[in-house]
Amino acid sequence: MNPLRAVILRMSESDSWRRRLTNWGATRRVVSRFIPGEHLDDAVRAVKAINDGGASASLNPLGEHVENEAMAEAAANTYLGIVERLGSEGLDSNVSVKLTMLGLDLDRDLAVGHLRRILSAARVHGTSVRIDMESSAYVDGTLAIHEELHDEFPNLGLVIQSYLRRSAEDVERLVPLGAAIRLVKGAYKEPPEVAFPRKSDVDRSFADLLERLVAPDARERGVELAVATHDPVLVDRAKELLRQRNIDSGVEFQFLYGIRRDVQRQILADGFALRVYVSYGPSWYPWFMRRLAERPANLTFFLRHLLR
Ligand SMILES: Cc1cc2nc3c(=O)[nH]c(=O)nc-3n(C[C@H](O)[C@H](O)[C@H](O)COP(=O)(O)OP(=O)(O)OC[C@H]3O[C@@H](n4cnc5c(N)ncnc54)[C@H](O)[C@@H]3O)c2cc1C
Repeated sequence: MNPLRAVILRMSESDSWRRRLTNWGATRRVVSRFIPGEHLDDAVRAVKAINDGGASASLNPLGEHVENEAMAEAAANTYLGIVERLGSEGLDSNVSVKLTMLGLDLDRDLAVGHLRRILSAARVHGTSVRIDMESSAYVDGTLAIHEELHDEFPNLGLVIQSYLRRSAEDVERLVPLGAAIRLVKGAYKEPPEVAFPRKSDVDRSFADLLERLVAPDARERGVELAVATHDPVLVDRAKELLRQRNIDSGVEFQFLYGIRRDVQRQILADGFALRVYVSYGPSWYPWFMRRLAERPANLTFFLRHLLR
């Protein structure tokens, strides 16, 4: 891993760096490029603009591990509030959830109970729920929970990370279910036994998984694919595959809010479906640091603002 990336990822977990950086006005100005605000109203405004531009959205209230059951309950209520708001405003958006925010580290049944409530509400409001994939320690648990709820809730989907060595096998488990899968490269710091350390291997794995997920048997099973990368080479590869195979449904591109708006516009202009993942909320620090770690150019942008 690039040493700078490793340092930023370590800073993303440090309380003292969090205190220092979040108190800087300059940090907040840079953050607004990636996060529309701290409140649901800010996120809803962003979703409306995204919908007006012809894309769908996915809402992600920022936050990570919760320490007690009351915090998990509060997070579940936040997700429920989002689902109701999406329904009442008629917005084209789903919701992305983190199982650790629903209390997975405290009590699996508690987290599953909260997820069920969110899925039921989402079904009533005609929307879907996607489980974000967290670090590799959670993959087995996430796959098992997805499998347990999949038949009852076809509006549930999950994420596969191409940097994990295990993902090709996990995909073979998911294809027969006709799962809804968001394919990403992966954002966490993982050891080389678990994740490919070289970017070229991560990219190759992404391309292989992409091809697998649009194979004829996956299409027949009803697999829904979200190609979630900002990588223009992989985006072009996906477009080419979809055109070659005349696939015009069940596949969409997904981008994070504020990133590569040029590529996003081109996707829509080329007639493909696009969903923009909108994160918002007061706990933006670790999320923002992961975005910085992903791309040195973002760090330069950030430092320029700090110096100004
Ligand atoms: C919709 C969505 C949902 C996601 N959900 C998850 C999840 O649940 N679990 C998880 O582990 N990860 C998730 N990720 C993050 C993902 O794993 C990657 O960390 C992230 O997308 C960066 O990788 P990349 O595919 O864009 O490619 P990279 O190899 O990082 O970048 C390729 C190119 O994309 C552009 N680019 C990439 N990042 C940026 C940036 N921050 N700013 C500007 N340009 C950029 C640059 O042109 C760069 O050269 C998600 C990503 C997206 C888009």
